[in-house]
Amino acid sequence: GSFIHSYGTKVFLRPRLDMVQDAVAQSRFNEKKWVWVEDIHLGYVAAHILKEERDLVQVELENGSTAFTSPDKIYPMNPPKFDKVDDMADLTFLNEPSVIYNLAMRYKSNMIYTYSGLFLVAINPYRHLPIYEEDCLQAYKGRRRGEMAPHIYAVADQAYHDMVRDKENQSILITGESGAGKTENTKIVIRYLTTVASEHTKNDATNHNADRLGQQILRANPILEAFGNAQTIRNNNSSRFGKFIRIEFNQRAQICGANIEWYLLEKSRVHQQSPKERSYHVFYQLLSGDKETKEKLLLGSSKPSDYGFTKGSNHVIESVDDAEEYRKLLDSLNIMGLSSKEQMDLFLIVAAVLHLGNISVTKDYRGDRADIRDFAAVERVCHLLGIPAQDFKNSLLSPRIKAGRDWVNQSKSPSQVMSSLDALAKALYERNFAALVERINKAIDAQKSIDKIGFIGVLDIAGFEIFEVNSFEQLCINYTNEKLQQFFNHSMFELEQEEYQKEKIEWSYIDFGLDLQPTIDLIEKTNPVGIMSCLEEECVAPRGTDSRFLEKLDKVWDSGDPEQKYKSTRFKDGFVVKHYAGDVEYCTTGWIDKNKDPLNEDITRLLARSTNRYVASLFEDYLEDNDESSIGNLYANRGSGRVRSTLTLLKLRKGGGSFRTVGQRHKQQLLSLMNTLYMTHPHFVRCIVPNHRKRSGEIQTKLVLDQLRCNGVLEGIRICRTGYPNRLSFADFRKRYEILCPNLLKPNCFIDGQSACQSLLDDMALDHEKYRIGATKVFFKATVLAELEENRDKK
Ligand code: ATP
Ligand code: MG
Repeated sequence: GSFIHSYGTKVFLRPRLDMVQDAVAQSRFNEKKWVWVEDIHLGYVAAHILKEERDLVQVELENGSTAFTSPDKIYPMNPPKFDKVDDMADLTFLNEPSVIYNLAMRYKSNMIYTYSGLFLVAINPYRHLPIYEEDCLQAYKGRRRGEMAPHIYAVADQAYHDMVRDKENQSILITGESGAGKTENTKIVIRYLTTVASEHTKNDATNHNADRLGQQILRANPILEAFGNAQTIRNNNSSRFGKFIRIEFNQRAQICGANIEWYLLEKSRVHQQSPKERSYHVFYQLLSGDKETKEKLLLGSSKPSDYGFTKGSNHVIESVDDAEEYRKLLDSLNIMGLSSKEQMDLFLIVAAVLHLGNISVTKDYRGDRADIRDFAAVERVCHLLGIPAQDFKNSLLSPRIKAGRDWVNQSKSPSQVMSSLDALAKALYERNFAALVERINKAIDAQKSIDKIGFIGVLDIAGFEIFEVNSFEQLCINYTNEKLQQFFNHSMFELEQEEYQKEKIEWSYIDFGLDLQPTIDLIEKTNPVGIMSCLEEECVAPRGTDSRFLEKLDKVWDSGDPEQKYKSTRFKDGFVVKHYAGDVEYCTTGWIDKNKDPLNEDITRLLARSTNRYVASLFEDYLEDNDESSIGNLYANRGSGRVRSTLTLLKLRKGGGSFRTVGQRHKQQLLSLMNTLYMTHPHFVRCIVPNHRKRSGEIQTKLVLDQLRCNGVLEGIRICRTGYPNRLSFADFRKRYEILCPNLLKPNCFIDGQSACQSLLDDMALDHEKYRIGATKVFFKATVLAELEENRDKK
């Protein structure tokens, strides 16, 4: 009760700096010179200075002990009146320890949202907070940023209003590491938008339609989560793909459609998981589903422990009922408008994948070639997929391949067959996922709407990944983040520049987006050949190998220049890339295969001719050459001018031939995402995981600092400090600091704001480099206001 009450007041009555000011704390603070001292274990600790010399400072720590430290290891502390400020850009001392201290103080009072300039920082509370209820949502509607406590609702509301007012597309970019709360916040944004937009629908003839659409958009998420989320060590409901959800609005500010793009589904999870993790939720949901469906899918009364792909890891998630989730999934599929046939097709692929994992491959009697003794498992798979079992077995064991002009059969070893089974399972699963998203898009498409004014896009994508061992997957995600960070830096530059121009201040602002260009070039450039292109080249080369790929990279990029973004690791198979978030060592073992993602084409050709139309459609890009004309029809039917769907992208192997590899597809999708983002007004949300134990109330300084460094919040502050981060309107400035020059301005004599400020600043004898006077505001360099505050406190 009291908790809700106290939080409630925080939300609705934003504490003003002056109100928070605690005279006692302030005077205690004034007695000494307080600083933050770097500490290798704790991050930073509070201390006050005892003695200050040129290269040595003696401090007394809070626990009473004294220590010596160098002046560059201490940072000034903000006075207590700045405790728990809503926007860290308001801090007079904008340094790392002040940022982390502010976040931690707020987090401990359940204030999980904090602004930091352009960012909204959100720290996972790991508990239910009463801040998302209907009354709370209503309270944020149409309010300006400073009026209410920081909240994800405020960001959603701002995007909505900007979109309606300016008829300009908006984007909300949510990133963070696994378990930080990206998907939860994405869901909250979407719920906000559907709620607020549907209120415009009341008393409207189109009411019914818009409401239905809103419901469908909300239901897209549970469906995507069933097929794209899984339990991991970090997160019981971890999204194993990235997504960009675009919600389209019409002239009346109602939702008129939506579209989902997805990125980089973690396919390998289908055939292998770490011990305390699970495969995708849908496997367990289906296996605890109704008897009738299970019978049809030849699953009988089996359990996860009966299948090769699922038996080795966790089977249940604490406090999750898979049977219940399965019912919810069916419910969502129904609301989305999928027929029972369509639903059956989806599950059929899931079941076929399970059965694939049970095909056991042995050695034949000669001992080197693969053989399959238990034909029943093969028959189950083929029955479901609608392909002849004997052909499937032959294709698996000795596929037909082209040798020169002829086709020959090539026998495979057991391990080769095993990996082609795994590859097939992954491809089936991914193509099913792609088709599912395409189907959802069809249901929520905005094509019919003629009066679209704009969209709000929400990006829910993994942040920087720096693991013990980093592979191709990490390069793809880090490449994405490098580009997103560049986008952020550039947006900040544009906004600042705009503000300076508006205020007619002369100051050449630097585009820090350019800082990231060398790393981006290293990854994506074609000339000189960057990492991605180099990998492509090796993938098409007849005898391409991982080591040749690496040799080539070393030759082109390892110049020995310390400024370079590439470093050879010399004796290991890999290289180091200097990302803005830090140096990442990549291990290049298996990259050719990961990028090519080869499939047994003999089998895919079988699948393309499946008697099940859905299965055949998933592999239609593998139709034989003499069927090529039907591919032409396929593209013709999709209509021109529209962006090619993901499924099409996946399938372009033969058709356009331009996206044959994982890397190419990702590069293309990223390009398209960036093009879209650059057309929007962006809003940035950074999610933070406070500890790795999923515990509420516990915040680990080091862990949080690392994330703030990787996600650009600290970078944002750095950029901010190079300009004039603190700004006050003329009136506010005069009101607050007139006391410093008591007899300067005559009380009843009129003087315009600008002149008044100029005289005050002249009288204070402030160095001109420390401030700029604009058209309506005074701008200050970082820490200048702190000096003024200090002088003010002395008065
Ligand atoms: P991943 O990259 O693994 O998908 P994520 O950043 O999307 O991670 P979420 O799935 O959004 O993380 O959050 C992980 C868990 O943390 C949620 O299942 C939920 O239990 C909890 N959580 C996150 N945000 C909130 C919140 N605002 N309120 C309550 N619980 C939350
Ligand atoms: Mg997620």
